[in-house]
Amino acid sequence: MELKEFQTESKRLLDLMINSIYTHKEIFLRELISNASDAVDKIYYKALTDDTIQFCKDDYYIRISADKEKRLLTVSDTGIGMTREELEGNLGTIAQSGSSAFKQEIQSQEGHEIIGQFGVGFYSAFMVADVVTVISKAFNEDQAYKWESRGVEGYTIQPWEKESTGTDVILKIKESTEDENYDEFLEEYRLREIIKKYSDFIRHPIKMDVTRSRLKEGSDSEYEEYTAEEIVNSMVPIWKKNKNELTPQDYENFYTEKRYGFDKPLKYVHTSAEGMVSYNAILYIPATIPYDYYSPDYEKGLELYSNGVLIMNKCPELLPDYFSFVKGMVESDDLSLNISREMLQHDRQLKLIAKNIQGKIKNALLELLNEDREKYEKFFTAFGRQLKYSVYAEFGRNKDVLEDLLLFYSSKEKKMVTLEEYCAAMPEDQKYIYYAAGETVEKLDKQPQTEFVRDKGYDILFLTEDVDEFALKILGAYKEKEFKSVSSGDLGLEEKDTEPDETGSEIFTAMKEILGDKVKEVRASKRLKTHPVCLANAGELSIDMEKTLNAMPNAPGFKAEKILEINTGHDVYRALENAHEQDTEKFKLFTELLYNQALLIEGLPVEDPVDYTNKVCQIMK
Ligand code: ADP
Repeated sequence: MELKEFQTESKRLLDLMINSIYTHKEIFLRELISNASDAVDKIYYKALTDDTIQFCKDDYYIRISADKEKRLLTVSDTGIGMTREELEGNLGTIAQSGSSAFKQEIQSQEGHEIIGQFGVGFYSAFMVADVVTVISKAFNEDQAYKWESRGVEGYTIQPWEKESTGTDVILKIKESTEDENYDEFLEEYRLREIIKKYSDFIRHPIKMDVTRSRLKEGSDSEYEEYTAEEIVNSMVPIWKKNKNELTPQDYENFYTEKRYGFDKPLKYVHTSAEGMVSYNAILYIPATIPYDYYSPDYEKGLELYSNGVLIMNKCPELLPDYFSFVKGMVESDDLSLNISREMLQHDRQLKLIAKNIQGKIKNALLELLNEDREKYEKFFTAFGRQLKYSVYAEFGRNKDVLEDLLLFYSSKEKKMVTLEEYCAAMPEDQKYIYYAAGETVEKLDKQPQTEFVRDKGYDILFLTEDVDEFALKILGAYKEKEFKSVSSGDLGLEEKDTEPDETGSEIFTAMKEILGDKVKEVRASKRLKTHPVCLANAGELSIDMEKTLNAMPNAPGFKAEKILEINTGHDVYRALENAHEQDTEKFKLFTELLYNQALLIEGLPVEDPVDYTNKVCQIMK
């Protein structure tokens, strides 16, 4: 019979599995049961919604049986089954779990770490078995098939006999070695233990033959053994359980089991509502960002169950875009099983649930923020960008929901703060929330424009992500305190000691003439203390926003309106005054140099670097 080759990544993964030194090999059973349960889910849903299929609840189950003599462990299900093509496609390649991130991990890591991080599905069987055989008959098909593999060399497929729809996964359990005990996977008590530990909440019955003893008939002291079928799992899904009986570990297990993510979630919420709309939900805030999160491939959504049946893997209507990182499930018996995708979108119940859930998520995040700052900052590092972007998106429609969840770097506290914290720490005379935008905290820390505001004892938020300033512009104000850039034309500081400065107006007019359209105005600075020169903003578009916008493809060349500010208390200004009186050429030279220096401070390119360098050299001579 023809031996078919595995896909390259599959080979690598199989190799890792076969030679795995992973210590929790028992998880293979969880993975196989989980696949079996998915398969039963699929046919269960079909049967419930299709009148042509006779539905009988007892027909749907998973069965585990062990044969010690032959060293065979079988996981059977009465699920949807697989066609020949599906057997090849699903088991010959790393199927759905074969995300590109996963593939990269396989290339770069040791096996046991991957198993811990990802949960690798079907292939984990090779951790404990020499031969894996899958006999499957797909729903509505007459012919069954047998898939078999002894490992990396490949697999075979051939037509086979099987009476009913469903799948048997048969493992030839490895011989025990000095270091590894595989016999335990053929022991009834051990298998029960593993099922209880990982798969208790699986909604379909997991049946197993168990050995019991009873008094022999007619005897009052002799016992005999007999086998009886037993349902091993409690079948109560975690979301239907009493919250008091569940531990954080149970919720984490559920997260892993469901493959919501491969991280340890930062927070979970288990919530239920009754009344206008009734539902159960378990929601998770992940700790790390999915590899495709900021790509168009990422699909948001929660699992949606109705009457114990999974009706959708990722129901996007349940999550607003700004909380698209949330994972979890919702069950509501108010929803009809037969509901179509189109109708679901308009379903009133679903909308109510979504609205409720949104509130729960926000509260959960606020709770994390207030009770476990370290975790919240971890969350914000991963998903803060999404929140800030969402403040800005849709013309700020959601800003009220989100503003209290934002963090920005405080130049005074030297850590991330909320807007509320910033405001609470404001001196009484401070009218605005000040910010400075730039590339890094280190660079902003040296920005001349920040000097004056800082000397007043006011805190400045340092914005270092391109979306930050756009978000603040859309917010406009927080609790009626407006945001103000330290580079803005008017700092909003009415100060006796910074009375309107008429000095040098003649000089500034002359400078403006030299610089032409490059600047809107040249004027004496109120914000500079030790630095000679800086740029300020005249219009709404700031210099940093100009940089961001122009970095986008096909940008039409945005220009922020710039004001050149000169520190009239600085020695450089004396030099400027003298040149103005005595030497027109020198005055022109100084003006151009100062303008270019202001550009450099802002991180903007000087217009003509060669010309600039020549001018600097000219002075040195
Ligand atoms: P994953 O479950 O992450 O997709 P697996 O390697 O465990 O990855 O399984 C690959 C695919 O094989 C599944 O998505 C499913 O389509 C199919 N499959 C596995 N086990 C069964 C089964 N018992 N019944 C039907 N299909 C199955």
